[in-house]
Amino acid sequence: MASVTLTNLVKSYGGVVHAVRDVSFAIEDGEFFGLLGPSGSGKTSVLRMLAGLEQPTSGSILFDGVPVEDKTPQQRNIAMVFEQNALYPHMTARQNISYPLKIAGMPKPQIAAAVEDVAQMLNIAHLIDRRASQMSGGQQQRVAIARALVRRPNLLCLDEPIAHLDTLLRARLRGELKRLQRSLGTTSVIVTHDPIEAMTMTDRLALMREGQLQQVGTPDEIHNKPVNAFVAQFFGLHSMNLFPIDHVSDGAALSGQFGGETVTLPAIVRDMISRDARLLVGARPSGVDVRRAGAGDAPEGMRVSGKVYVSEQLGDALLVTVQIGSGTVQALVPHDRDFAIDEPVDVVIDANAMFFFDPDTQETRRFASRLAVPTAALVQAAALSV
Ligand code: ADP
Ligand code: MG
Repeated sequence: MASVTLTNLVKSYGGVVHAVRDVSFAIEDGEFFGLLGPSGSGKTSVLRMLAGLEQPTSGSILFDGVPVEDKTPQQRNIAMVFEQNALYPHMTARQNISYPLKIAGMPKPQIAAAVEDVAQMLNIAHLIDRRASQMSGGQQQRVAIARALVRRPNLLCLDEPIAHLDTLLRARLRGELKRLQRSLGTTSVIVTHDPIEAMTMTDRLALMREGQLQQVGTPDEIHNKPVNAFVAQFFGLHSMNLFPIDHVSDGAALSGQFGGETVTLPAIVRDMISRDARLLVGARPSGVDVRRAGAGDAPEGMRVSGKVYVSEQLGDALLVTVQIGSGTVQALVPHDRDFAIDEPVDVVIDANAMFFFDPDTQETRRFASRLAVPTAALVQAAALSV
């Protein structure tokens, strides 16, 4: 087990592709750490440099405070699991898992015991004498993980290990991987483009975009205190709504324009308005309410009229998309409510659920004071919407 520190890590391929731009963060000993970001954001490049499969263009990598740039993956004692496992198809699970130990010269009885142990942990004992070519994708991936773990690596590197599996199996393996990591305490890094995977499995994560680090933190921190509008939109089960509002005026009531429609605004925006009377407001769908047009009192918040574009039943919630002029907004409302397509509605957002971003730099200026639905509830909703 090891702690890992990356400092000013840069990777360019052939001097033209700037895949990783000055990335620094530290992974604690025993931590389950996530590298999250859209495809092409540089996650795999960071992982491969950590693992020793790729040389950094510049920057340093320390394992337990010791530089490892010149060390091979074997010397670093890392184990890697890829999206497409590289099992030997003609070998049985037992032979595949034993292989790295055999190469390392471990005596046979010890190999047998180690394989037994890891097979129990990964619930593959019943498959142990089956050939890899005769297993399902999920079973093969368990064997690949077992093979990685059997050597008791300092660092377990997982690159989208469950991305290609079907939804139910993925949900199950997420939980199993987390339990396994906890019980072994092996420092682990998982690369994923799926916020749900990062949210459910990791202790902390680094969110990347175009080779740059956006934010490092626990899933809750990133969910509730995103540093900018990109992070706010990317991280979460449902993307955060963004409302670029302009022509903000302080007449009889505070109001502005969104998608060509008039928006009523709460008093808290007064000190948020930029010089040219623009605002960038964010609200998670869980913080947005939809009401029949004209119904109910307006809370201190934002209100705008629109019409229902579509509503989708998720089981324990209804996801309603509302067209507001040229813009759209998504709201999560109780599952037993009912909206017709094109029905006129009011979209209402409590002032406490509103985020504010700088309309130019997109950096967060103010977090919502009311925390959004806790991660656990979001994840349950994800499992239900499978
Ligand atoms: P991610 O894992 O987040 O999808 P990668 O680290 O694989 O991102 O890639 C980051 C960028 O670097 C992409 O633009 C990708 O095309 C490029 N890239 C990755 N590997 C190579 C390579 N061996 N040669 C050239 N460009 C590469
Ligand atoms: Mg990748």
